[in-house]
Amino acid sequence: MTDLVCSAETCVHNNDRFCCKGTILVDGAQAKKPSETSCASFDERVQCGCKNQYETPSRALNVECEAVSCVYNEGRKCTADEISIAGHNAKVADQTECATYQSR
Ligand code: SF4
Repeated sequence: MTDLVCSAETCVHNNDRFCCKGTILVDGAQAKKPSETSCASFDERVQCGCKNQYETPSRALNVECEAVSCVYNEGRKCTADEISIAGHNAKVADQTECATYQSR
């Protein structure tokens, strides 16, 4: 499990910078730097800006990750103790990134 803090507060799964999904997927199969990764689980909160009352945020979750060139990637799973997803004002997944990515 990886502790996750996420600044993509426009995502429907974000609650006070924590994620409400039990598992997320980070894209970036060809990534060589953080900006070439993205959170594939991002879904824009489109209507009222209100929080989803039915989802519970948790700090630790499973992070599946396609960015195999990252030092924390083992068998397409993230092994970092803590990661930070960046994406302030993101409207689409490509406007998010794993800020913790570190090239091997
Ligand atoms: S730290 Fe590396 S392995 Fe973990 S989610 Fe970010 S890019 Fe993927």
